[in-house]
Amino acid sequence: MLWRMFHNQIWISLSRYRTATGSNRIVDKGLEFDQVDRERNWDDQILFNAILFYLGNKYVPGSSHLPLWRTDGVILTILLHAGPVEFLYYWLHRALHHHFLYSRYHSHHHSSIVTEPITSVIHPFAEHIAYFALFAIPLSTIALSGTASIAAIAGYITYVDLMNNMGHCNFELIPNWLFSVFPPLKYLMYTPSYHSLHHTQFRTNYALFMPFYDYIYGTMDKSSDTLYENSLERKEESPDVVHLTHLTTPESIYHLRLGFASLASKPYSSTWYLCLLWPLTFWFMILTCFYGRTFVVERSRFDKIRLQTWAIPKYKIQYHLKWQKESINNLIQEAILEAKEKGARVLSLGLLNQVEELNRYGELYVHKHPQLKVKLVDGSSLAVAVVLNSIPKGTTQVLLRGNLSKVAYAVAFALCQKGIQVVGHPFACYCSLLGSPKKGQVTPSAYNANCQLRLTFCPFFICLTPLEALTLIMHCFLTVSHFLISS
Ligand SMILES: [Zn+2]
Ligand SMILES: [Zn+2]
Repeated sequence: MLWRMFHNQIWISLSRYRTATGSNRIVDKGLEFDQVDRERNWDDQILFNAILFYLGNKYVPGSSHLPLWRTDGVILTILLHAGPVEFLYYWLHRALHHHFLYSRYHSHHHSSIVTEPITSVIHPFAEHIAYFALFAIPLSTIALSGTASIAAIAGYITYVDLMNNMGHCNFELIPNWLFSVFPPLKYLMYTPSYHSLHHTQFRTNYALFMPFYDYIYGTMDKSSDTLYENSLERKEESPDVVHLTHLTTPESIYHLRLGFASLASKPYSSTWYLCLLWPLTFWFMILTCFYGRTFVVERSRFDKIRLQTWAIPKYKIQYHLKWQKESINNLIQEAILEAKEKGARVLSLGLLNQVEELNRYGELYVHKHPQLKVKLVDGSSLAVAVVLNSIPKGTTQVLLRGNLSKVAYAVAFALCQKGIQVVGHPFACYCSLLGSPKKGQVTPSAYNANCQLRLTFCPFFICLTPLEALTLIMHCFLTVSHFLISS
């Protein structure tokens, strides 16, 4: 069961990564929130199967002392699957598309037009029972005939999982040469695009894993080959906007959308069992330190604008180490140039990728590449706009607290332009514009040049704690001495 869960997770992560980059994608649409919620409880079939396997192991004679390999049992399993299992599934599946059964049962599976590996096990419970009964034909036959082996049972379950996940992964991965080398393979093995057509067209491609019954009964979709070839040729998506973020804590790798959905849905929370995974977390850290390269985390679409989120394989702690500065800047620069190659028009530097000490809000790259066609955005304009819009109309004085960052300077500058007094902590200061501002980027120096700073004592001085008051006096002394020296 653990192997099955691990195997399924590999397919989930692989499919999310490949559909985010866009190469070989089959259905070019995003997932709806409804689908994600509906497909969340996929573990019910694993629990159901676990109970049945446990009962089988306990009550079927000889099942706990199976040999590793038996050729006759393996051949029997292959023949029974290709024969009765595929045939019975085909007709059961066609029956499930009759409106009586479709509306009551099978429509649940077909609610997902854009499939992902998990879609393969999203069925009503009654369907799970029917499918288990089908897959039990080869397994019970080899068990009762005494030809069962661990290889036959584990191999058959893995085959069913593999084909199920592959059929719903929404990217084409079966190379063309495989069908050229062995042409009958097209009747013996379906492709992801083949089953994808069943989800988009509903009335074609009913086969389980082997399409020959669709050929025999004339239900093969005519566009199967075209879709297969088009999907194989589909290049990586060229994003319009790239958001460049990075890893934060060592555990943040588990919160990526590529991994576990339950953890990805709570990006800032930490759960106790993640601490138990520290050996794995540690190896991930080592791996990203030495072999890390920027990777696509997710894609989204806003109207016609295609957006992608990329992550620099660096943790928050590395941004505080001076000797890491160059390698981080190199990675960001490579990402900018890659985004340019892919046709992105805007790249936003997220979180610590834009701090002043590292690259001066991206200014470093603009100076290095004056012909750069990608607009670098650090998000400060949006932050300023949000702050400005949150200030009620009619305000005449604003108190600014916290670090005097680029955002704070720009907020103060914009407020001064409106004639609003801006008061800073710990001293009250207000600035009035001496002239009209220069066009272009607002920098701290531009702000200072346009503002006249006056120092006055503020009434809230009396509300301070002793420590704050001491800091304030020290700050006052340093500022006055600095002011006297410079003047
Ligand atoms: Zn169907
Ligand atoms: Zn399906």
